[in-house]
Amino acid sequence: MQHIIDRFISYVVIDTESDSNSQTTPSTKKQWDLANKLVEELKSIGMKDVTIDKKAYIMATLPSNVDHKVPTIGFISHFDTSPDFSGANVKPQIVPNYDGGDIVLNAEQNIILSPKYFKDLLQYKGQTLITTDGTTLLGADDKAGITEIVTAMEFLINNPEIEHGKIRVGFTPDEEIGRGAHHFDVEKFGCDWAYTMDGSQVGELEYENFNAAGAKITFKGKSVHPGYAKDKMINSMLIANDFINELPKGETPQETRGYEGFFHVHHLKGSIEETVLELIIRDHNKKKFEKRKELIDKIAKKINKKFAKKFGEDIVIAEVKDQYYNMKEKVLPVKHIVDTAETAMKQLKIKPLIKPIRGGTDGCQLSYKGLPCPNIFAGGHNFHGKYEYVPVESMQKAVDVIVKIAELTANPIIK
Ligand SMILES: [Zn+2]
Repeated sequence: MQHIIDRFISYVVIDTESDSNSQTTPSTKKQWDLANKLVEELKSIGMKDVTIDKKAYIMATLPSNVDHKVPTIGFISHFDTSPDFSGANVKPQIVPNYDGGDIVLNAEQNIILSPKYFKDLLQYKGQTLITTDGTTLLGADDKAGITEIVTAMEFLINNPEIEHGKIRVGFTPDEEIGRGAHHFDVEKFGCDWAYTMDGSQVGELEYENFNAAGAKITFKGKSVHPGYAKDKMINSMLIANDFINELPKGETPQETRGYEGFFHVHHLKGSIEETVLELIIRDHNKKKFEKRKELIDKIAKKINKKFAKKFGEDIVIAEVKDQYYNMKEKVLPVKHIVDTAETAMKQLKIKPLIKPIRGGTDGCQLSYKGLPCPNIFAGGHNFHGKYEYVPVESMQKAVDVIVKIAELTANPIIK
């Protein structure tokens, strides 16, 4: 376990915050600091074909150690951390044998990680937790995933009696700003399928995510002196308000869960002359997703019709763009890849938590690029903030799951 702790800490002390305002890949130069270190480490544990491209995508191979033909599988994580919270000068704290009480992250600033607010903590009583010092995020998202993959590869190299096929490892920059899969060379990776190690709680196994689109809706108006405005002024902010009121009631992020989709108004900026409304559309079901996009057009048309005479041209312009799709469509035809992960967990006495993701992963983009890619837990909690923590035991379990999946893929008869 100390080995995992040391490795994890050696990663999180390196600042790799990504930046959505940057146009380069990686989005921040500092991501190279960890990327270069990972390349050296992969070579030093004995991985083959260790490569890093111009955009800092890392790939490496663990060659097969069996004679029969085995599918090539991959494990993927990202080394950037979220720009939502500082990732500079991370000072991890180790809490051995967690007693189930409050953890003082920072006495000076009175920052406390408490099971009163974070009930998940209680399932880790008696375990070793790694937390922040209350001033940064931890970066378990997703340096826990990297720790687990490297440790599992090292374990397989040191225990050659465990049979496995060819395994590929992929580490990416810029996942947190939605670009982790953009420059991922699926062909070069050359896997039949892969898993992202980027989930949260121990047991998580995910292969369904939202279909996602974003809409930018522009409302035009006409500004006239309010004293002379009768039948002349068109206030674009009020038209935007009408538009929002036409959206189905109760279908917002705060009122939905599970497989329920939503419209989420996340930005509104306006004046009398022009108002811009931005919203996102999410639904697991492809048909319902399409219906939601149609509804945006319908409402725009309805308002345009109403103002056609008065305004002379379209008063509402709706631009809807698809963002990503539910990976389920790409994973279901090869459902055995989920079943293998599930069997691995069950054999290790880990209760699989299979549930739809209310978001997306790099794996869903990769699945549509031809690499089916479910997501497995990495063990951390409270991502993207100062309360982020990870139990070392969960990281160890993730290592065990990777090793077991490798084993089961080489010898699928084992049940
Ligand atoms: Zn992540």
